[in-house]
Amino acid sequence: MSQLGRSDHVVVVGAGVAGWRLVESLRREGYEGELTLVGDEPHVPYDRPPLSKQVLSGKWDLDKVTLATSEKLEASRTTLRLGVRVTELDVENTTVVLADGSTLAGTHVVLATGSLARTLTFPSAGALATLRNYDDLTRLDATLRSLEPESVVAIIGGGFVGAEAATSIKARGLTPIVLEVAPRPLIGVLGDTVSTWLETIGIDFGIEVRTSQHLRDVRPHEESFVIDFDDGWSLAAGAILAAVGSSLDLAWLEGSGLTLDHGVVVDRDLQAAKNVAAIGDVARFIVSSALGEEVARIEHWEVATEHAAQLARYWTSGERSTAVTIPYFWSDQYGKKIQMLGHPHPGDDVVMVEGSCEAGKWLALYSRDGYVTGGVSLSQPRGLALSKKLLEEPTTLKGALESAPWST
Ligand SMILES: Cc1cc2nc3c(=O)[nH]c(=O)nc-3n(C[C@H](O)[C@H](O)[C@H](O)COP(=O)(O)OP(=O)(O)OC[C@H]3O[C@@H](n4cnc5c(N)ncnc54)[C@H](O)[C@@H]3O)c2cc1C
Repeated sequence: MSQLGRSDHVVVVGAGVAGWRLVESLRREGYEGELTLVGDEPHVPYDRPPLSKQVLSGKWDLDKVTLATSEKLEASRTTLRLGVRVTELDVENTTVVLADGSTLAGTHVVLATGSLARTLTFPSAGALATLRNYDDLTRLDATLRSLEPESVVAIIGGGFVGAEAATSIKARGLTPIVLEVAPRPLIGVLGDTVSTWLETIGIDFGIEVRTSQHLRDVRPHEESFVIDFDDGWSLAAGAILAAVGSSLDLAWLEGSGLTLDHGVVVDRDLQAAKNVAAIGDVARFIVSSALGEEVARIEHWEVATEHAAQLARYWTSGERSTAVTIPYFWSDQYGKKIQMLGHPHPGDDVVMVEGSCEAGKWLALYSRDGYVTGGVSLSQPRGLALSKKLLEEPTTLKGALESAPWST
């Protein structure tokens, strides 16, 4: 791998947090060459996590979530191409084609294209509103403003974004109702036991969370909607938000020669091909935990920023990451903070090591074959942070319980 120099040109596709942090990290590592950041959204890079939290609840506006302020942009000496999509990638010539017909020839290309909100489409209503980007937020905000106080807003999906949106919508004086298809929210991500512990946090916060909800159709009705369920019930709602997970747009990369498999597959240095890398939500990368390696795609804000720093170091100095990956994720929902460390599987064993459901705060450890694979906490940030060391090297659950780092 030749290191980046003054005559190089790095073209970054995707102006989200991964793309922007890469630009910043490259400059911090001393890269002096040309940098172009292309994004299909019309906005300068901004942070997505507050969209479902502070921005939707009306506390923050776009300025507050902007990552690339004008001073930072100027300091980064980056050419921004916003509001234009990249439609083709020529891997061999590290060149991209934009939707406006122009071509950008780089010496290096980075794919930081993130993921999309999965859409729900019903024959009578078409595609329902989603919340992935600032324009989605603006549209949703306008709809919510048009509703009478306490109007029902149906949120389809009780996952992280759905629960956060419900919390913010309640703060606006509306009545969110969460419709979850599974028997409990988050069961598919956090597992059976943890989802049981979290089962009542929505209701305790005053939000109706209906589980095992199978939708048959959504019909526009006067200024609002009617949702029909398989069991014959209906629900009238002033607005509907579909928060049903994510999807990927990889179609434009088919035939490029890159390996696509539920993401852009990269090696341990985040390389998808010679001088072509992928970072953030779109990258299917090697998660090297203390217990071994696993290939995964992880949609966490912190993973995106860490990828950016790792790639900048590798391309500027050849430094390879040797540290174990300890993914971190948080979610603010129903007045609580859920945090997770590591990459546990939903089927891993789990034990609560501190706190209780009654107390409304607790810390739990996941384990597999007797070894700790992750931690999850409810409004117990310190205990979780102190437990991080359990993931830095192989640790038995027995050893973890004996040393109990969370209680120091
Ligand atoms: C509402 C919401 C709340 C979230 N809350 C949390 C949270 O609390 N904690 C947490 O850890 N994570 C959270 N996340 C996830 C986190 O925001 C993502 O993991 C992170 O944004 C990933 O960064 P990225 O740069 O890889 O992708 P993105 O942020 O999705 O950025 C990718 C950008 O590339 C653009 N793009 C895509 N294709 C092209 C193309 N062909 N040409 C040009 N541009 C293109 C996209 O439009 C987008 O602007 C949340 C996400 C959402 C949507």
